[in-house]
Amino acid sequence: MNVLAVGAHPDDLEILAAGSLALYARDGHRVTMCVLTKGDLGSDTHTRAETAAIRRAEAEESAAVIGADFFCLDQPDGFLFDGPDVRTRLVDVMRSAKPDVVITHHPDDYHPDHRAASRIVLNCRQLGLCGLVETANEPTDTIPGVLYMDTLTGIGFQPELWVDITETIDTKRAMLRKHASQNEWLKRLHGTDYVDYVDRQGTLRGLQIETAYAEGFQAAKAYPQPRDPGRLLPPSL
Ligand SMILES: [Zn+2]
Repeated sequence: MNVLAVGAHPDDLEILAAGSLALYARDGHRVTMCVLTKGDLGSDTHTRAETAAIRRAEAEESAAVIGADFFCLDQPDGFLFDGPDVRTRLVDVMRSAKPDVVITHHPDDYHPDHRAASRIVLNCRQLGLCGLVETANEPTDTIPGVLYMDTLTGIGFQPELWVDITETIDTKRAMLRKHASQNEWLKRLHGTDYVDYVDRQGTLRGLQIETAYAEGFQAAKAYPQPRDPGRLLPPSL
């Protein structure tokens, strides 16, 4: 399979889906990680330009842990809106990645950029087919299934699909630790270590399927609907 994961900020995919992405990669599937914003608000010690550069390097290092391709679409952090520029760029990434499945944020997650990312993905889902939308890559001939990641801390999200990530939790932690600038900043803001934070959510989702660690997902309800969304995820139970 070709898997495209689209997050709003440079660390979102690691927090909510890195265990599953690591499983895809381990099983020989092609994984592409795409971040829509530069994450340039994520600092209280650097300029926006410096923060964007630091976070891009961190995200690239994280993607390299599982051999994923990486794209950043350079939208402004905190001000992500659907529009022609981000749509055209994402359509081009979709044409490059040729995904069987796109993984992105739940439409009701806590952050406005997460909610916008979710809509943008769904809005671009069929544009890749349209030859009159001109981008560098050739149009695709398939419409991918869309899976939503858990929300941050799981608030308001009831998983419908679970992936047992017990075998890849260490890889997920290693990817998260690449985001060192955010770990330090979030520790000051919230008093919680990044890795502890995702371990706790992973343990909750794992408890629900009687395993140590898991990640939860939902299939987007949108035509054309995958017949069996569970088959779009790595083999688990
Ligand atoms: Zn985020």
